[in-house]
Amino acid sequence: MSRLNPRITHARIQWWLAAVLAGALQAAAILPFWGAPEAFLGLAAGLAVLVAVLAGIVGGPLAGALAAGIGWALFFVFLADRKLEAIPALAPWAGSAVVAGLVADRLLRKRSERARQAAELEAVRSASSQAIVSLAPDGTITGWNEAAEALYGYGADEIVGRSVLLLATDELETLLRRADEEGLATAEAVHAAKDSTELVVGARVSSMRGEDGAVAGFVLTTSDIGASVEARERLRAAESRHRTLVERLPLVTYVHPPGERGPLLDVSPQIEGLLGYSPEEWRSEPELFARLLHPDDRARVLAEVAAAADGARMLRSEYRMLTRAGDVVWLRDEAAPVRDASGRVAYVQGALLDVSERRRAREEHESLLARVKASRAEAGAKQQNLDFLAEASGVLSSSLDYETTLRRVADLVTRDLADWCMVDVLEEDGRLRRLAVAHAEPLQGGPNGGRPAPEPEPTVAEVVRSGRPRLVAGGDGPEPTTLGELEADSWLCVPLVARGRPLGGVTLVSDGSGRAYGPEALALAQDLARVAALAVDNARLYREVEERADAARVLTYVGDGVFLLDRGGVVRLWNPAAEVITGLAASAVVGHAAAEAMPGWQGLAERIPVVSSREPGRAETVPLDTGKGERWISISGVEFFGGTVYAFRDVTEERQLDELKAEFVATASHELRTPLAAVYGAAQTLRRHDFVLDEAGRDRFLSLIVDESERLSRIVNEILLANQLDADRLDVSQEPFDPIDLVERVVDSVRMHTPPGVSVEITGPPVLPLVGADRDRARQVLVNLLENAVKYSPDGGTIEVGLEAREGVVAFSVTDEGLGIPADHHERIFEKFYRLDPDMTRGVGGTGLGLYICSELVSRMGGRIWLESAEGKGSSFFFELPISEPELVRTTGAGADDAQGSPHLD
Ligand code: ADP
Repeated sequence: MSRLNPRITHARIQWWLAAVLAGALQAAAILPFWGAPEAFLGLAAGLAVLVAVLAGIVGGPLAGALAAGIGWALFFVFLADRKLEAIPALAPWAGSAVVAGLVADRLLRKRSERARQAAELEAVRSASSQAIVSLAPDGTITGWNEAAEALYGYGADEIVGRSVLLLATDELETLLRRADEEGLATAEAVHAAKDSTELVVGARVSSMRGEDGAVAGFVLTTSDIGASVEARERLRAAESRHRTLVERLPLVTYVHPPGERGPLLDVSPQIEGLLGYSPEEWRSEPELFARLLHPDDRARVLAEVAAAADGARMLRSEYRMLTRAGDVVWLRDEAAPVRDASGRVAYVQGALLDVSERRRAREEHESLLARVKASRAEAGAKQQNLDFLAEASGVLSSSLDYETTLRRVADLVTRDLADWCMVDVLEEDGRLRRLAVAHAEPLQGGPNGGRPAPEPEPTVAEVVRSGRPRLVAGGDGPEPTTLGELEADSWLCVPLVARGRPLGGVTLVSDGSGRAYGPEALALAQDLARVAALAVDNARLYREVEERADAARVLTYVGDGVFLLDRGGVVRLWNPAAEVITGLAASAVVGHAAAEAMPGWQGLAERIPVVSSREPGRAETVPLDTGKGERWISISGVEFFGGTVYAFRDVTEERQLDELKAEFVATASHELRTPLAAVYGAAQTLRRHDFVLDEAGRDRFLSLIVDESERLSRIVNEILLANQLDADRLDVSQEPFDPIDLVERVVDSVRMHTPPGVSVEITGPPVLPLVGADRDRARQVLVNLLENAVKYSPDGGTIEVGLEAREGVVAFSVTDEGLGIPADHHERIFEKFYRLDPDMTRGVGGTGLGLYICSELVSRMGGRIWLESAEGKGSSFFFELPISEPELVRTTGAGADDAQGSPHLD
């Protein structure tokens, strides 16, 4: 007890001591005045009161009262002689002592309280981990504890007396002002330590006020919160990260109190997107969870949640929930209890994940698996069908002989699908022919042991005609299963159709094997029919194309022009001969209307006879305008279902020849008649007796007869020779002769009857090689050319006969200064009957056979003939004959006999 309250013990001792001491002092003050004169009574009383007051001050009011009582009692007994008048003095006597005691006691208490407080403050200050800085009202530091020393680094001795603003100017100033106004101010601030490092501190300033209310100073407490600020920041960042993370997670997190899942404590906002109910609704509606559970899952899930509610184990469940919109969402729910430090379940934390997609995928996967299983079985059967079709296709494509391949397919069908298989094909004439009848080996034999008919049954014909398959399933069906005469169990017939055209039919019959055909068999048969029809069509097309190609090939090599017009009058074919004759390229004509492509076709078409039978029709010769001028064609047409085929020949040459012949007949008759008339006239004259001719006159008439007869015979000879040449009945010999000699002799004979004004000259080298040819024919050629030169020089002139040795040949030339021949006639001048002036407007007659004969003879002798001429400029005719082998040389004139043993040839 005394240990706990030392102050009380101490006070009591003091009190007793003061009381005893005061009693002793009272005795010492009173007793000396015992018996002293009455004047000293007052002094004694005064001393005694003083002592009592002192006792009161030192020992407190009780001690004062005791001392005053002792003093007064001594005074009353010893000095006042117990007079009653002294009794009233007791009250002020004791009162002053008590008052003094009370006052002293109070003062004493106050002081000790202050001391205690100071001590306490000091203790707090030094014990505090916070820096405590005492400040004078002006901010001068008056106190600085150890924590401040540790925090700021200043020792108390160096900082006390300096301004607190040293630590942080502005902030502290504000803080002090606020503390001044409000009594207390706090702030987080940055202070500077002695070594200038910055300190993040929590600062608190409280003002101390004196009894007068004025500020007596401040206490600043600061603590280093740098670490805790950082920690708080980190915590806040971590929290926000966590929040963001939670809110961004593709799942919903939730927290609910332990026990059953009632209202949620917390739930991430994604819940609203997932189920349509806001987090607030989840927090406030306790029944929401149970209500939204899919009815089929509700009982199970609630039981699972309840089982996991005590926190003993985790909840792991998948279930359906209904959204606000009424959709079904599959969720995976995983929840685990979170325990507090004592191990009790504080709350349950869980996550909901939308697994609808996965669920759907799984369901789909499962249904797919089931389907795959089902279709695998189906595929087995299909595979067999495919194998069969592949085999059949292989057979069908193995050859273009479709009749054989179809028979083999029928065999295949009876191996795998039927007891009988018939294949019927539609012929081009529209007849349906039974191509194949195959049966299974060994033949099962139907109830009647019947066979299919060798001809297609009407039912089959109907299928082919309509293009619609027919299936008679058999069994207990209402339809009779007979096919023609055949009693079958079941049968089916499918048409062969390609490019929309019926080609035939395939019939499958089950007769004895007990097969019953259904839609699947029908589908397979149709597939087979498609492949077969394609093969038949292909083969036929191929054959057709081949035939056409052959025809086209033939047409390519045919010399006659052939073209085809379709029903629309468009040219579809134009063979090379047609190109050559007309000069129109196939590319420019084919595909165009004939009227556009062939000039003048419109007018011609009407004249061309077209027959519709295959008999050759009569041809018509018509003129056709071509790029090369007018050509005459002999053309006829044959009409067929696709259009008209025209065939034509170029008869321009024949036509011209015909014309020439006609002219020749006219000219020849004139040529023959003239000399005949002359001979006749001369003979008549000679025979006359009415007048006598003298010798000269008779000679004249006789030579006229001779000349004209020669002319006649020349004409007849020409005609005969031309005929011989035509018939190729003319022989030409080949012997060496001297060209110079030949020329000289011919010129000599011609000169005999050249008209006046015409002279004939020979030019050429003195020596020439011998020519190897028929001398007479060469002579005839030369004579013809010379006579023409004379004949067509009506105005006279010089005719030059030239000779020249060239490479392996000797060239003869006859050049006149006569009429000349225009260039456009040069090409034809050597043709039979060709004459420049058929009507003899220039009065020069001729048969038109001379040059023809010349050219024929020259070419038969192995030479060539040509001319150079222009109208009015005279003409030069040239011909070459080969040099004789071995080469024999003869000189003209005097040197003739110096030839080295060369024979003389004339
Ligand atoms: P013809 O009996 O008409 O003379 P030819 O065959 O000898 O028959 O000659 C054919 C044509 O060639 C003659 O009609 C004539 O127009 C022309 N002709 C031939 N030789 C000459 C020539 N030297 N000068 C001009 N025209 C000629």
